[in-house]
Amino acid sequence: MDIKIVKNSNPKVKPDQNNLGFGNYFTDHMFIMDYTKGIGWHDPRVAPYGPLELDPSAMVFHYAQETFEGLKAYKAVDGSIQLFRVRDNLKRLNISNDRVCIPQIDEKMMFEAIKTLIEVDKDWIPSAPGTSLYVRPFVIATDPYLGVRPAGTYKFMVILSPVGAYYKEGLNPTKIYVEDKYVRAVPGGIGFAKTGGNYAASLKAQVEANEKGYSQVLWLDGKERKYIEEVGTSNAFFKIEGKVYTAPLEGSILSGITRDSAIRLMKDWGYEVIEQRMTIQELKDLYEEGKLEEAFATGTAAVISPIGTLGWNGEDMVINESRIGALSQKLYDAITSIQYGKDEDKFDWVTKI
Ligand SMILES: *Cc1c(COP(=O)(O)O)cnc(C)c1O
Repeated sequence: MDIKIVKNSNPKVKPDQNNLGFGNYFTDHMFIMDYTKGIGWHDPRVAPYGPLELDPSAMVFHYAQETFEGLKAYKAVDGSIQLFRVRDNLKRLNISNDRVCIPQIDEKMMFEAIKTLIEVDKDWIPSAPGTSLYVRPFVIATDPYLGVRPAGTYKFMVILSPVGAYYKEGLNPTKIYVEDKYVRAVPGGIGFAKTGGNYAASLKAQVEANEKGYSQVLWLDGKERKYIEEVGTSNAFFKIEGKVYTAPLEGSILSGITRDSAIRLMKDWGYEVIEQRMTIQELKDLYEEGKLEEAFATGTAAVISPIGTLGWNGEDMVINESRIGALSQKLYDAITSIQYGKDEDKFDWVTKI
């Protein structure tokens, strides 16, 4: 693939590495490639970061035909740049694309795009502890047309954002509201795809949870509204009497790559990890019996986020005295050590660029 590079002649001043937050800053360049029905993907290029010009009738604005991914590039302790499980993210983008009728994109081509863009903007990768360069590939439908059908033209793009810790509280346990009014996904829907519509549907619940003093919601299943699904944009785990439970991948939750990394590490350490449906009432009962030892959420942005409080039915369950559990801490340390190249990459998760 021949990627044309146009350098930004007006580079920005880089932000303070100790105050990055999440998703606030963008690098000097972006990657773009177009799709035209009958031609396929064409014109891969790196261009100065900046606004796009799109027709107001571009289909993405009206019917949300779009997909995205999120992964991170790290400055390793040996000074090299490494990506974590990038092949899995690119595979998942094509699974999402298929669900919303976006044409498949060659995974090697997407990898070349990400690699080239990061090389151009490599000075933007932060090196302060806990920081990384968040990589956001996405696809949008661009046909100027108001009828409802899959588009015939698309843009695949990649933007980069230097990030710090995801949650304001850092690794401190979060307060999560068990959502019983709104649902995120239903069987047969789009819950397993990383597509914008899922997030638009989640905003109201998040805002109402924030108003009640919680930072995120725990979603229950959309059909019976009792089975535990996931937390905001992360997957949920519960340690009960030494065993670890998480919701199975049955189409309504997102197949998190951090979820999979956590499961593989815990199994490697000898934990029994059970992917099985559990109702919120069952969890409450186990909590009452003193058997719920730890709860945590997994996702690329925060890696591991301990759940300190679960609010349900007007009552708060305070888990592990709202302290970080030993397993949550061990997972966080193990995953981040591989990401920053401090530990051996025995699962072949890292790609150097
Ligand atoms: C992205 C995402 C996750 C976490 O996936 P990772 O691959 O671990 O980042 C979980 N749930 C939802 C809804 C998500 O969008």
